[in-house]
Amino acid sequence: NVVIRCRNLGKTYREGDLVTPVFENLQLDVMKGETVAIVGASGAGKSTLLHLLGGLDSASSGEVSVAGQAMSSLSDAQRGLLRNRALGFVYQFHHLLPEFTALENVMMPLLIVGESVAKARPKAQALLDRVGLTHRLGHKPGELSGGERQRAAVARALVTRPACVLGDEPTGNLDEKTASNVFELMIELNREIGTALVLVTHDRRLARRLDRTLELTQGRLHPLSTLD
Ligand code: ADP
Ligand code: ADP
Repeated sequence: NVVIRCRNLGKTYREGDLVTPVFENLQLDVMKGETVAIVGASGAGKSTLLHLLGGLDSASSGEVSVAGQAMSSLSDAQRGLLRNRALGFVYQFHHLLPEFTALENVMMPLLIVGESVAKARPKAQALLDRVGLTHRLGHKPGELSGGERQRAAVARALVTRPACVLGDEPTGNLDEKTASNVFELMIELNREIGTALVLVTHDRRLARRLDRTLELTQGRLHPLSTLD
């Protein structure tokens, strides 16, 4: 039961005469409910890989499939639909909409896939309760602490119960203790909802809490032993 599959995946950026090969021939299968950490030096291509997995950029070679559908075979509209239904995203910065409350921000992905406000509201509220933000439903992002904002962003990513959540340094902007709490929360929700997690992190201690760690280095993905 594979939720994300990469076959012979390659990416080279081309801007005029400037050619930047990032990686080639990457193979990756992420199974339903599995948690995978991607580590690697700055510039190794971790964000690029995540963008390809999420259909935000297109591959130069090879193929990414999400929930059994090859990204390159879809129209832009179909790819957008697949992204909204099957994937969730968490970034280093929360990217919550500043003019909307926590509740409204978390309802948004459900409204985008066509759910009614009447159905979306209790789902968003239940997840905000679950991440410890019951007392913050009506607060806007600017009125929340860093940890609270990131927990709201986690709730937003999971509210559609996606097959996989992609996170680019999702705890990278938090202090150590808050980062550890938010990371743990993501793992707990992964277990409860059955969502797979693919998290880019530079923090190998946090990475060790996931099922497996892959290091992206010199254009290749290598499994890291848990002893590293
Ligand atoms: P990481 O996330 O591991 O730090 P990135 O995926 O951001 O690495 O970058 C990998 C390489 O691709 C770097 O050499 C970077 O400069 C280059 N790169 C990233 N995005 C672009 C882009 N939009 N256009 C051109 N080159 C890019
Ligand atoms: P801060 O940025 O203020 O450090 P935290 O994420 O550490 O934010 O949490 C703020 C408050 O919410 C703390 O009192 C913490 O105990 C509580 N809290 C954190 N995570 C949860 C959770 N998953 N469920 C319930 N309460 C939580």
